[in-house]
Amino acid sequence: MTEKNLTCIVCPLGCSIKVTLDGEKIVNVEGNSCPRGKEYAVSECTNPVRTLTTTIKCDNGRVLPVKTKKPIPKGKLKEYMDFVNNLLVHLDE
Ligand code: SF4
Repeated sequence: MTEKNLTCIVCPLGCSIKVTLDGEKIVNVEGNSCPRGKEYAVSECTNPVRTLTTTIKCDNGRVLPVKTKKPIPKGKLKEYMDFVNNLLVHLDE
């Protein structure tokens, strides 16, 4: 058995959650104050995802704020950032 300690990022309360794993199988989740915390903890241990919020360069020297439409796998954040950093948006003014 292994234990993973997480801080829930779903709401500002930031509950401390402890997940007990038997190999890759989740056997217990505790410390969450609501079901959303359990959902977050399970996702974080099986398929962690994040919403990517960043900016894209525009050809007029400005930057455009953007974010992914839905959360993406945490392990792909660098790949997505590399892609976004190579974009240059043309804005008609
Ligand atoms: S477990 Fe629930 S109450 Fe606690 S931080 Fe997560 S969402 Fe908020």
